[in-house]
Amino acid sequence: MSGRIYNFSAGPAVLPESVLKEVQQDLMNWKGCGMSVMEMSHRGKEYDSIIKNAEATLVRLLNVPDTHKVLFLQGGATLQFAMSIMNLMTDEDECDYIVAGNWGLKAYEEAVKIGKKANLVCSSEADGFTYIPEPKLTNAKFLHYTSNNTIFGTCYNELPEFKNKIVICDMSSDFLSRPVDVSKFGLIYAGAQKNAGPAGVTIVIVKKDLCGLPHTSKLPTIMKYSTHIKKDSMHNTPPAFAIYVCGLVFNWVEKEIGGLDKMYTFVKKKAKMIYDAIDNSDGFYKSPVTNVSQRSMMNIPFVLSSKELDAKFIEEAAKKGMKSLKGYRSVGGIRASVYNSHPVEGVKALVDFMAEFKKNNS
Ligand SMILES: *Cc1c(COP(=O)(O)O)cnc(C)c1O
Repeated sequence: MSGRIYNFSAGPAVLPESVLKEVQQDLMNWKGCGMSVMEMSHRGKEYDSIIKNAEATLVRLLNVPDTHKVLFLQGGATLQFAMSIMNLMTDEDECDYIVAGNWGLKAYEEAVKIGKKANLVCSSEADGFTYIPEPKLTNAKFLHYTSNNTIFGTCYNELPEFKNKIVICDMSSDFLSRPVDVSKFGLIYAGAQKNAGPAGVTIVIVKKDLCGLPHTSKLPTIMKYSTHIKKDSMHNTPPAFAIYVCGLVFNWVEKEIGGLDKMYTFVKKKAKMIYDAIDNSDGFYKSPVTNVSQRSMMNIPFVLSSKELDAKFIEEAAKKGMKSLKGYRSVGGIRASVYNSHPVEGVKALVDFMAEFKKNNS
């Protein structure tokens, strides 16, 4: 579509063009009901069908079992750092934290702050989070980890199994990029704005029998998963428009991509194009990730031989319509975020530019 850039932003991030067009087409008058989704009561029959369809499509995509419930909440993934353990853990329970990036560290720090028994069972912080460390697990009942480290570009390409633990996983930056066995998790959470829709809604998939335990009776009503489960995410006004767009993205994954196996193939193909460009550059481009098997399929950081060259790369790429390639504030370099809906044409444009830039600057 004319005037649109190739958007490599880490979040909020690119959305499928067909979804944006559908939003545009229905913006003034959703399916002939005479108003936009932003204007309708969340208690009306129109909106009821929108949120129910979004939930049902996600349940189909991820094969969410009856033991688990999908929730659409607010407060971002950041609120889930606290909300998850306030609901699931009693004061006696302990949780092991695997820290392989800023977000995992924040989750751990939040647990400490609110007085939960949190064990830092490994951290790669001293090595600049360039890999995911092996944990020395305790016999804590719970375990928290981040499946994809958005800032540093590492991920579990095979999701790990933790026997006899209730696993809490932050999937904010690789949600819906591959099939996941939801039954193995006590709780999955993901801010929508990386892979599933616009900012403003957080998707939570929680095992129902872990919610509503006696210790949660003291929590504020809105902080209890049991409240939201009982009310099908409609305890109060939900982020209605954001949920609507998420529903369209779920449809896109199901109908246009063909489900999560196909999505994973698509995602791996795009990432491989960029990693090949890095690996075949005779060291002109370098990946900071030290464990190659942990390279992220979603966020791909790389550096050139100097900060000046990094800056020149980012500037020239932007002139060619490839935007938001700057690495995270504290990391520098370049980071290409190529989430689910990033088009293969954008990746092709980037690798072509990488070859051309190398030729002109080596
Ligand atoms: C972006 C991100 C967050 C923070 O999400 P918010 O919705 O802004 O709170 C947390 N965890 C991971 C892995 C992220 O990528």
